[in-house]
Amino acid sequence: MRKILCLVIVIATAGLAGMVFHSSAGTHLGYTDTPMLPSGQWHVHDSNRPKPPAVTPGATFSHGAPAPSDAIVLFDGTDFSHWEGDQGALQWTMHEDYMEVKPHTGYIHTKEKFGDFQLHVEFAEPVKGVGNSEDEGNSGVFLQGIYEVQVYDSDNNTVYADGLCGAIYGQSPPMVNACKKPGQWQTFDIIFEAARWNQNHEFVRPAIATVFHNGVLIHYKQPLLGPTGHRILATYDKELPATGPIALQDHGDDVRFRNIWIRPIQEEEKP
Ligand code: MG
Repeated sequence: MRKILCLVIVIATAGLAGMVFHSSAGTHLGYTDTPMLPSGQWHVHDSNRPKPPAVTPGATFSHGAPAPSDAIVLFDGTDFSHWEGDQGALQWTMHEDYMEVKPHTGYIHTKEKFGDFQLHVEFAEPVKGVGNSEDEGNSGVFLQGIYEVQVYDSDNNTVYADGLCGAIYGQSPPMVNACKKPGQWQTFDIIFEAARWNQNHEFVRPAIATVFHNGVLIHYKQPLLGPTGHRILATYDKELPATGPIALQDHGDDVRFRNIWIRPIQEEEKP
């Protein structure tokens, strides 16, 4: 049952997350007809929400960081053995030491599922006018398959604040915009704690994420409102599985990923 619930949520989220709409007037900068976030200050994807200030990250941080000895190496550039496609066979492509989204072939996710963890991911935005991408370089790293840390070309900073690169999509903008330019490798180092329900299936606390983008802290112990989605107010209205996969988003742009490893964190032993 839990598997089915998780799958439904993943599919529902997959179809909606991270979208940006266009019109003849250009890229929409957000919405004001979406639900109000719990703070009561901003709507989901609010066009009026201030953009975070830009910070130029150092030249390198954990770029190319070798995996610690106790990490599970999810992708080292040689094979897709830890991954499978959401929609049948995995069709993303392999190049040298990285993988690349094959647009419109679907998300991919790890076969293994995780609860609390430390995750290292590297990605590069497509250079505009090269390959398939002419737009935003939209992808995403989905924690437990349901919470999106946005991957996006925020170099031009046109999207709404909670859709910028590093945003908890539709919920929390990054504290600062620490993006590098398209074509450059970037890093996410994420510490994630899963949401908790007790044995009576009562909600105990939300998922929590701390995220470094290119070595710059962009979320610190940030409570997540629930599984992320487009134009929705995320909630924990249903008990979620204790573990889930790491998923990467196909949003139609040829974003690249490399050097992905994870260190599961065991729940602290109770005294
Ligand atoms: Mg996305």
